Amino acid sequence: MYISENINEFDKIQNIYRNFPTGRLIDISNSITKKYFQNKIYIRGLIEFSNICFNDCKYCGIRLSNRSFNRYELSNEKILSIIEDGYRNGIRTFVLQSGERSYLNSDYNIKKKSSNTPANLKTISLKFIEKVDKLLIEIRRRYSDEVAITLSCGVYERKTYQDWFNLGANRYLLRFETSSGDLYEDLCPGKSFSRRIQALQDLSDIGYEVGSGFLIGLPGETEEITINNLLLCKMLRLDMVGIGPFLAHPETPLAKFPSVDIEQVLKITSLLRILLPESNIPATTATGTLDKLGWEKALSSGANVLMINISPAEMKKEYLLYPGKICIYEDGFKYLSDLKVKLEKIGKQLCFERGDSLTSKRKIGINR
Ligand code: SF4
Repeated sequence: MYISENINEFDKIQNIYRNFPTGRLIDISNSITKKYFQNKIYIRGLIEFSNICFNDCKYCGIRLSNRSFNRYELSNEKILSIIEDGYRNGIRTFVLQSGERSYLNSDYNIKKKSSNTPANLKTISLKFIEKVDKLLIEIRRRYSDEVAITLSCGVYERKTYQDWFNLGANRYLLRFETSSGDLYEDLCPGKSFSRRIQALQDLSDIGYEVGSGFLIGLPGETEEITINNLLLCKMLRLDMVGIGPFLAHPETPLAKFPSVDIEQVLKITSLLRILLPESNIPATTATGTLDKLGWEKALSSGANVLMINISPAEMKKEYLLYPGKICIYEDGFKYLSDLKVKLEKIGKQLCFERGDSLTSKRKIGINR
């Protein structure tokens, strides 16, 4: 187990987890959210720019072994035109997400699953890094600091993270997925849990706003792991925390495992808000997929961010991390007006500000 020295904190969280009814936790988390964010829900534009991945995580629909869909990569021109549309629609934070194309920990998968040699792999990886370099340069040339750029592309060397930061990336999302190193390495063959935690530390040291989080209800998760998931988010002092229910994808080795119920997701969301009052917490698409009103419920249980998928419609169906994913047939921009009405019904308001994390603002001495 990764966490051992925080026994007192563990006991406290476990006590709350076991003994507080979910409704009570939601009430507490709501008053905290109101204090720090009023009724604002920050909007982010999510662009899934490539589903190519070198890894084979057992829970993931776009894992290397799944050959039942088409792989794609959007050109930088296409990504920039989506950002331009988003900018015209008021969006000021863009999340650029892809599968992981890093040669750091992929030899295992490549040897097993692909005809690529490690030398090829390194070339592909370096080309990908260069693509992201060029994209960041062009985004900053066009928009200066008006927009925030979040990358979510996996584990890379510290130097790569530093280069991307210098070129204009502000935030980085890298879920640790589970606080149990053993479970992580069983579910993600060839990947190292400690290397992942090191990457999160590198990102934080460099100055990124760092987002991480975990899957709720992974096969093999125990109550101890659940509590440690929460505790690890706190120990990492995350600026953003993304959590979502495990939803079994039929083309993965975990196809037969059940998902958790929405109450567990809301309980964990509200506990996170209590533990990390100032962090940005999205209501994730997976939560919206688990329950028809999942977004609304999560936004009423401590979440304060929504990511609207503005990827091209024809690509969204090729980025199915789990089945039944919502919003894949809708135009993300048209959906914004529906969303405004939905949020008003629960007393919330769409907010188009950059929405920098309060924790990072404090770190660099900006007053709210
Ligand atoms: S979880 Fe991420 S790294 Fe793992 S297979 Fe899916 S996209 Fe690749």
